[in-house]
Amino acid sequence: MNDEKLNLESLKGRIIAIDGPAGSGKSTTSRILAARLGYTYLDTGAMYRAVTWCALKDGIAPSDGDKLGELARTMPLEFKTENDNNRVFVGDQEITTEIRTPEVTGHVSEVSAHKQVREAMVARQQEMAGEGSVVAEGRDTTTVVFPDADIKIYLDADTRTRAERRVLDLKRMGITTTVEEQEADIIRRDKYDSGREHSPLTRADDSFIVDTSDLTIEGQVDRIIDLIRTHIEQA
Ligand code: C5P
Repeated sequence: MNDEKLNLESLKGRIIAIDGPAGSGKSTTSRILAARLGYTYLDTGAMYRAVTWCALKDGIAPSDGDKLGELARTMPLEFKTENDNNRVFVGDQEITTEIRTPEVTGHVSEVSAHKQVREAMVARQQEMAGEGSVVAEGRDTTTVVFPDADIKIYLDADTRTRAERRVLDLKRMGITTTVEEQEADIIRRDKYDSGREHSPLTRADDSFIVDTSDLTIEGQVDRIIDLIRTHIEQA
């Protein structure tokens, strides 16, 4: 850990935006980083997953942009952080695990490609960020949601590594799958997320690339802390 002397006072109210493809390590890295900085963790992917889960439950077709947009605007979505764990609720119902099922993962890219869904979600994300002190992660946080973020990171890793991480994540949730299955799913989602018309996954010109293929989680967080130190604290 290399954040002993971070000047937390000078880091108050900042926005750290982290984008990257599926399985690049964004969620774990962002969660740990937020905890170390005393920031709020904003998992935008969980928001798109929650809309998808609700749509599937309510029988709304993943192709119906208008209905999905309305759902994204109005659903009572809430995050609660407990012991550094990000729990997701729709009203009183907890859906933390439900939003990670293969069924939701299989439809989330189509649901989140609709302009109506994106507009509703981006507005909610900007509102949730409030006064700052936020680590936001997703596909468009560095480009569309927070174009003026204090620091922008693009996390990447080779597809095999990303697939292996996904298998372990899902195993922890009691879902059994194979590296081959996950690799195919990651390639499919990357293609969809990078090729869509609205807010595609792209690297912002002013972002820093961190390749996590050979880094441990601790190493990834340390790398970002170094960047924060150089580009925010000492700026
Ligand atoms: O990050 P995660 O894998 O949970 O994201 C699930 C999906 O949500 C992505 O594959 C992408 O289709 C969508 N997403 C998005 N924009 C974001 C975050 C996620 O379109 N900012």
